[in-house]
Amino acid sequence: MLTVRGLSAGYDAVDVLHAVDITARGGELTVVLGANGSGKTTMFRAISGIVRPSAGDIEFDGRRLPGLAADRIVKAGVAHCPEGRHLFAKMPVEKNLLLGGYVRRHDQRRVRQLLGRVYELFPVLYDKRRNPAGTLSGGQQQMVAIGRALMSDPSLLILDEPSMGLAPLVTAQVLDVVAQINRDGIGVLLAEQNAQAALRIAHHGFVLAEGRVVLSGTAADLLDDPDVREAYLGL
Ligand code: ATP
Repeated sequence: MLTVRGLSAGYDAVDVLHAVDITARGGELTVVLGANGSGKTTMFRAISGIVRPSAGDIEFDGRRLPGLAADRIVKAGVAHCPEGRHLFAKMPVEKNLLLGGYVRRHDQRRVRQLLGRVYELFPVLYDKRRNPAGTLSGGQQQMVAIGRALMSDPSLLILDEPSMGLAPLVTAQVLDVVAQINRDGIGVLLAEQNAQAALRIAHHGFVLAEGRVVLSGTAADLLDDPDVREAYLGL
């Protein structure tokens, strides 16, 4: 379980998040909706130790995360798959994946198991494991980015706009795999522009606007909410 309480954070002493409260229950899929610039990425960066909160607290499975180094947070079970993928384009797919397993390097058996699991989820990555990551399609590169995050054996996977720049059909495939990962018992915290598709696979959701939580509820409630329908579902 992830609990974010009264979180304020930003850049160069200017907060873009203001007293944000969010919980993501263990094993559930929690979606964060919000327009560009509403602060989703900043919240994810604060959780994973890249941005330092100016106020508030973040607790994951009973541990306080602020102040821990980013690799400690990964070791504690929180993996962050950033917006924009950030792969090593010239490196083979498998090397990119193994980099994600770095924090588990002392247990090579587990690393091999995790790699096998990633190839089960994304068979195409097995076929392309020796190819430079930069030669793959956009959708396949997103799969590498998700696979790399899974290689750290997380109990919570943070996914920042995994469908960014992908065609609708590929987006649907990526979100199917996200749902599959969640069914396998991994909690997911997902930012996604395709609000309807995201809410359909989610348990709970939050809506951020200008760095504040303006709405939260079960995914079913949000799908029915008139404001959400108008602002995010285009209905
Ligand atoms: P997007 O979908 O566009 O990524 P977002 O909801 O994830 O939007 P953030 O990326 O968290 O929003 O951005 C929130 C605010 O913080 C924006 O006004 C943005 O310009 C600003 N911001 C983001 N990254 C930085 C940075 N590295 N330095 C300074 N300001 C930043």
